[in-house]
Parts: sequence; structure tokens; C-alpha cells
Amino acid sequence: MGSPLLFRHPSSLEHETGAHPEGSGRIEAIEAELAARDWLGWEPREAPAVDLGVLRAVHPDAHIEAVRAVSQRGGGAFDPDTVASAGSYVAALHAAGGACAMAEALLAGDAGAGFCALRPPGHHAEPAQAMGFCLFNNVAVAARHALDSLGARRVFVLDWDVHHGNGTNDIFHASDELLFASIHQSPLYPGTGPLSDTGSGRGEGYTINLPVAPGSGEQSWLALVEHVVAPAAAAFEPDLVLASAGFDAHRADPLATCRLETSSFGELARHARAIADAAGAPVGAVLEGGYDVDALAASVAATLEGLAEGGAPRAVEPDAATERARQAVGRFWALA
Ligand SMILES: [Zn+2]
Repeated sequence: MGSPLLFRHPSSLEHETGAHPEGSGRIEAIEAELAARDWLGWEPREAPAVDLGVLRAVHPDAHIEAVRAVSQRGGGAFDPDTVASAGSYVAALHAAGGACAMAEALLAGDAGAGFCALRPPGHHAEPAQAMGFCLFNNVAVAARHALDSLGARRVFVLDWDVHHGNGTNDIFHASDELLFASIHQSPLYPGTGPLSDTGSGRGEGYTINLPVAPGSGEQSWLALVEHVVAPAAAAFEPDLVLASAGFDAHRADPLATCRLETSSFGELARHARAIADAAGAPVGAVLEGGYDVDALAASVAATLEGLAEGGAPRAVEPDAATERARQAVGRFWALA
């Protein structure tokens, strides 16, 4: 098996958002950090544009056309938070396409780990609605592609962005093919993702929402992963592990008040890798948020190290919130 794969594309710099915190400087900071460290041994690969047929499995034509039309007329806003420029449509095609290419490479056995350093991010995007800086739901498109065309039967998505991944939550809400686990600050945008939202229909139990209080630090986050997420994921036996890797739970981030350290993201990545290893599956992460560019760049580097190295994550004791979450999630999953 080859080196871990880092997907990138110059179009990520052409999605212009003005003074918006989700700007191209994020990618520039990540690339500068990684280039200075010889890419940490990862193999850079160019992210292709997504196949439109693959994109349509998640997003209706009308939504794809709306994004294309806004870019074609030079830009505009989907809502006060979510803007697009002339280059945004192409950037969004490559952000989704990189995630799909990563899933293809991982499931073909080219590598055991991957990371997509691409933008715009995706986890807030609903099938027919751009929102929260997101145009297409990159991780959902890749997961759907893996299930439809790459032989995966079960995909696990760990969303560690500080905001709830409402789009991914909703797209797979009634599905038992994808286990979605999100840790997110509450209250915070977009306001969804209570512990009581556990999925629907055949997907009942396949959505795990773990809100944490403002100010929560590494102890709270890692306890939830160790004592709730990891055992549920082990019981699910995924063929592919994907992470919606946002870095806005960092203590330096301006958009939220959680208090993770740079090294905390290495531990989250190590957990994702350990979950994948236990299931005999590969692991890939896609960039979501993270708005302090220095913290973002350092945290992405820590994530790449954790994904590549694996090993045992730092063990922490469960707190009261973790015990409550274990009771709720334990209704659906035998938590070791
Ligand atoms: Zn976020």
C-alpha cells in the first residue's frame, strides 16, 4: 500500500468570498505549512472535477444549476453567510470530486489514508440548499459514490467540525448504509443536532448527535469519541471511514468557543484511524471549517500525522455528559 494521499486543486483558491472568514487564505496557510514540512510524507494528488452523475445522486439538477448560474453571472449570495464568485462552481466541482477520488483510491487499496485540502467546505449543504459557507456536500457525495459504485456497503462518517453537520445528517437520515456521528457545540449555528435526533425509518439509530457545551475542551470531546462513537462505529463494521474534519473547535477559532488544542486534532484523527483499522477499512478526511489560519494549518498537520501513524489514542475517563450520551446511543448500539 502506498503513501497516504493528499488531494488539492488550484481552483480552491478561486472561490472568492471577500472578507468572509471562509477564504482562500485557509488553503494557502495549510499548503505553506505542509510544504515546509515536506508534505509529511503524503503524496499530493490533483483533485478531479466531480462526475455530474455522481453529484446528482445527492443534489438535484436545480441546485447544481443554481450554483453554476451564480458563478456564470460573476457571483452572488445564497444567503448572508454563503457567497459565490465566478470561480466558485468549478472550485465546488473539484471539492466534491476530490472527495470522490479519495474514496475511489482508498477503496481500490492505493492507500490506507487520505485527506482533501479543498474548499468550499460541504457539511452544511442540503440536497437543494447551499448554506453555511457550503455549496455541495462533499463528504455526502463521496459516501453516496462509495455506496453506489465502489462496493462499500457501510460508510461511517465522523464529523468533528464544531458546527453540526446538518446537511450530512439530513441526507442520510433515513439510511442504514451510513452511520453519521457528529460532535458539535450547542447552542451554535445551525441549531440542529440534539442528542434526541437519532435518524428515522430504516435509519433509526444510524444518526448519533453529540452536542457539547460552549467552552468544552479536549477531555469532553475525546471522552465522547472513546466511549460512544468508537464502540458504536466498531459495531457498525464500516467498509470506509470518512471524517468531516473541521478545525473550528480549536481554542483560537473566532467562530466558536470550544477549547481544543492543536494536538487534540491529532488525537481525533488517531481515533478515526483506529476505528478504520479495527474494521479493516481505510480512512479519509475532508476539510470543513477552521477560521484561525495558523491554528488551522497546524491542526491539519497534526491530523495528517494522526491519520498516517494511527496507534492508540490518549485514553480519558468518561464524564457525566458522556454517560448520558452512552445511555442514549446504547439503545441502538452495544457499546463495549
Ligand atoms: Zn464549522
